[in-house]
Amino acid sequence: MIIGVPKEIKNNENRVAATPSGVAELTKRGHTVYVQSTAGVGSGFSDEDYVTAGASILPTIEETYAIAEMIMKVKEPIEPEYKLIKEDQLLFTYFHFASYEPLTKAMIENKSVCLAYETVEKADRSLPLLVPMSEVAGRMATQKGANYLEKPLGGMGKLLGGVPGVLPANVLVLGGGIVGTQAAKMAAGLGANVTIMDISLNRLRELDDIMPANVNTMMSNGYNIKAMIKDSDLIIGAVLIPGAKAPHLITRDMLKDMKPGTVLVDVAVDQGGCIETCKPTTHAEPTFVIDDVLHYCVANMPGAVPYTSTLALTNATLPYAIDLANKGWEKACKESKELAMGLNVIKGDVVYEAVAEAFDLPY
Ligand code: NAD
Repeated sequence: MIIGVPKEIKNNENRVAATPSGVAELTKRGHTVYVQSTAGVGSGFSDEDYVTAGASILPTIEETYAIAEMIMKVKEPIEPEYKLIKEDQLLFTYFHFASYEPLTKAMIENKSVCLAYETVEKADRSLPLLVPMSEVAGRMATQKGANYLEKPLGGMGKLLGGVPGVLPANVLVLGGGIVGTQAAKMAAGLGANVTIMDISLNRLRELDDIMPANVNTMMSNGYNIKAMIKDSDLIIGAVLIPGAKAPHLITRDMLKDMKPGTVLVDVAVDQGGCIETCKPTTHAEPTFVIDDVLHYCVANMPGAVPYTSTLALTNATLPYAIDLANKGWEKACKESKELAMGLNVIKGDVVYEAVAEAFDLPY
C-alpha cells in the first residue's frame, strides 16, 4: 500500500503519525511510505532519519495527500486539508467527529474512509489509542503540579516530597483511571502523601493492591471530597464518565475551604472539567488564579512533550496501521472487531452511531 505521512498543520501540533522505526516496519513489509519534508522535526526526527528507514520525502502537503492510499495523521484534518483528501482515501487519525460538525460534513462530502483512533475499542471496552495520551497527561499532571507549588510560580511554596524532618505535600487525585493512576504513581515516587478517590470500589481495591504505601484510597463522594480538600496542597482532576460531561466534584464555593496557594490541575478539562472554576487554557498561558487557588487547565497537555507523545502514540497505532496496510481496510476491519469500531465515515456514509446522533444524520 502507498502510505502518506503529512506534517501536522494544526497550531502548535508537533507530533507526527509515524516514527522512522514505524516506517521501517511498514517498508520491510513491502509498503511504500511518503513522508512530508520536516514532518518529524517537532518530535526530533529528521528527513534523513526517515530516508534511512526506507521512506521517500515529498516537499509539500499537496503531493503527500495526492499520492497516498492511506494517510496517517495525528490530529483531525483542518479546513485547508479538506480539499486535499481524495475519494476512497483511507484516513487513520484522531477525528473527534461528534465535537465538530463542519469536519463531519466535509468528510462525508469527500467520500473518504475515516478510521478514528479515538473509537478503536477492545472487547473489554478499553480505548487503546486514547490510553497513551492519558498516560502522558497523568504523569505530566504531577510534574506540573509540583512545579506550580513553587512560590515564584504562584503556589504555596511547598516541596512535594518534603525533606527529612519536614512533612511532604498532600496530593488528592480525583478519579483512579489511567490519568489518575499515572498521576498518583508520579506523586508517590516523589514522596508525596497521596490519596486517590474513585466511585468504583473495585478500582480502589485494585489500586490499593498495586500502589506503594504512601498512596491511600478513598470512596469519592461529596462529603469525603469536602473533608479532604482542606488539607490538600495539590488536587488533580482525572474523572471520566464516558460520553458525558465531567461532573463538577469541586464547586466554586469550595475554593474558600482550600489553603491559599493550593494548586488544581484539572486534566478532565477536555470533557468540561471536574472543577467548576476550570476553563481550558493553553501552554502559552496555562494558569489563572481564583480565590488564591492556582488553576492549571491545559486541554492538550501531551502537546508539550511531542517526543514522548509521538513515541507513545505510535507504539499503539503501528500494529493497526500495519494490519490496514497489509490487508486493506475492508479485510482488516472484517477480521478485527476492535479496528472496525474505529470506522466512523465510509465513502459518504456515517457508520458510527454517536456521530450520526450528534448531528441528526442518517445511520
Ligand atoms: P478513565 O476512564 O481511565 O478513568 C476515569 C475514572 O474516573 C474511572 O476510574 C471512573 O470510575 C472515575 N470516576 C467517574 N466518576 C467519578 C467521580 N464522581 N469521582 C471519582 N472518580 C470518578 O479515563 P482517563 O483516561 O483517566 O481520562 C480522564 C480524563 O482525562 C478524561 O476526561 C480525558 O479526556 C482527560 N484527558 C485529558 C488530557 C489533557 O491533555 N487535558 C489528556 C488525556 C486525557
